[in-house]
Amino acid sequence: LATNARYLATRFFVAQPELATGTPPSVKLLIDGEFRESQATEWVDVTNPATQEVVSRLPQTTEREFNAAVQAAKDAYPTWRNTALPTRSRVMFKFQELIRQHMDELAANVTLEQGKTLPDARGDVFRGLEVVEYACNLAVDLRGEFIENVSSGMDTYSIRQPLGVCAGICPFNFPAMIPLWMFPIACTTGNTFVLKPSEKDPGASMMLAELAMEAGLPKGVLNIVHGTHDTVNRILDHKDIKAISFVGSDAAGRYIYERGSASGKRVQANMGAKNHAVVLPDANPEATVAALTGAAFGAAGQRCMAISAAVFVGGIEAWKERLIEKAKALSVGPGDASETDVGPLISPEAKDRAARLVQSGVDQGAQILLDGRGVRVPGYESGNFMGPTLIAGVKPNMDCYSEEIFGPVLVCLEAETLDEAVAIINSNEHGNGTALFTRSGPAARKFQNEVEVGMVGINVPIPVPLPFFSFTGWRGSFHGDLHMYGKAGVQFFTQPKTVTTNWKDADERFMRAPGLDAV
Ligand code: NAD
Repeated sequence: LATNARYLATRFFVAQPELATGTPPSVKLLIDGEFRESQATEWVDVTNPATQEVVSRLPQTTEREFNAAVQAAKDAYPTWRNTALPTRSRVMFKFQELIRQHMDELAANVTLEQGKTLPDARGDVFRGLEVVEYACNLAVDLRGEFIENVSSGMDTYSIRQPLGVCAGICPFNFPAMIPLWMFPIACTTGNTFVLKPSEKDPGASMMLAELAMEAGLPKGVLNIVHGTHDTVNRILDHKDIKAISFVGSDAAGRYIYERGSASGKRVQANMGAKNHAVVLPDANPEATVAALTGAAFGAAGQRCMAISAAVFVGGIEAWKERLIEKAKALSVGPGDASETDVGPLISPEAKDRAARLVQSGVDQGAQILLDGRGVRVPGYESGNFMGPTLIAGVKPNMDCYSEEIFGPVLVCLEAETLDEAVAIINSNEHGNGTALFTRSGPAARKFQNEVEVGMVGINVPIPVPLPFFSFTGWRGSFHGDLHMYGKAGVQFFTQPKTVTTNWKDADERFMRAPGLDAV
């Protein structure tokens, strides 16, 4: 990783003199097609969560730089919106090819800055790549509608036009996939874009932006600003930004939705989750336990579609030993070690918070079946590691249930019936994803019909839809009405214009060949 970091720093962070002195490189801004050194006076350290080493320094973008980024996007917009759709799509064809070619470096950067294992990091890039593939052919979902003879000799049609300058605000947990949920669709539909990556792991966004420009994205179409609250506030308040796509926590999402909407912008806010798996007594034992442990502890539980709560219908007893055994067998360590299953959490604060919520479960009467809090990884003593943790006897009023832990923790509840399990899920404030494990078709049919959650898996632990569908979280997990990517994503980044035409009084003379009158 160190070698890769140096390579990346050379190519994407453009900070040659600093490399020579060993100072961590600064992350550049992307404004009007140029990677620029920020004039910021405040900087944030980007750290490797497995070691706490500083990987790079990220600027708190100044107001002037921010305005320059929006202005570049605004200036690029008139030409880009009228660039032929096949030309815009061809940029995405080239972009997807370049992402494939650079998959290893992208994944190495994701592991370095975010901590997840290399195979998982490749998955992060790959799930984003699938959205780029979708963008290559999004014309299918951009097509308008036409009705002839709405009145005598009159027709009405609707076309979808881009909005203008759009913005994206990203979380840390999928540093490649989530930027790719946003700007490929926004830009291919004719918008220009200002992206704010997570301040914790901006590297993948920088690499992707460089590859997008290499693929032919004209200068100013994609711009990148960095920072935390102040940069977000500037996005929320800037009069030239028409729409904001946000993915992150509840608190930030609610704030961004409210302030962004209040200033007249279109906002989609994808927020936190508590995703339940319901296990019926007839479920396949091996497959279900493998699915539960993968979905709860993979990526150290830092997935918005992780299974973080399991409801065992008929009780946990029959499942307990198998679950403990499978979870115990997972190896905790740095993401670049081939034997690692569970990497570090993103920060010491995230680790402390997860540990505190586990303790609150104990204090409130739950039982710990497996405790990953004390885990030590030799050689990585400063890493933010936490091992797989299983808590049983959890009740909905406990903090370890009601709060999103976002760590490798599975809280286990029990229910007498499927109805009771569904009622637990429907009472939870979040409604992102859920899964049912069963061999019963009627039970599956009932579950998918009654559960008030936007993405449902039947014997599928993490039912993230591919990009020809959309990412459809419900209730507290989503504010807005048009979801991410797929047809809804195209609709989010475009607005319909409805045209009614009347040609019934057309002059007959224009319908004949010139000169015909003289004959
Ligand atoms: P976060 O909310 O802390 O940060 C997300 C972005 O918002 C960052 O760019 C950050 O700079 C900004 N931000 C944070 N606090 C802010 C504030 N108070 N005001 C203005 N801006 C603020 O989220 P995170 O910790 O990076 O990501 C983890 C969270 O994201 C989890 O809750 C997870 O469930 C959620 N998530 C949801 C989805 C989804 O699709 N629903 C996907 C991935 C992650």
